[in-house]
Amino acid sequence: MSENMEEKPEKEKEKVKTEKRKKREKGVFSLYKIENDQIVRLRPTCERCGPGYFMANHGDRYTCGHCGFTRYKPAENKK
Ligand SMILES: [Zn+2]
Repeated sequence: MSENMEEKPEKEKEKVKTEKRKKREKGVFSLYKIENDQIVRLRPTCERCGPGYFMANHGDRYTCGHCGFTRYKPAENKK
């Protein structure tokens, strides 16, 4: 009796669920912009939470969604 290493015909039961999951995540990449090989942050970071926590733009002020810190934009020099 010799052991035959036969290849088992594997039943390929592949239920490939092609679910189209569109995760609409707010990408971090939208917060950065690369200019001249330099990363430019488009949003200010929270002073309390530190760098990494971006603040949302609310027109005349920025708010942090993490701690609720609100920082008013510096008054623009109106000519
Ligand atoms: Zn914060």
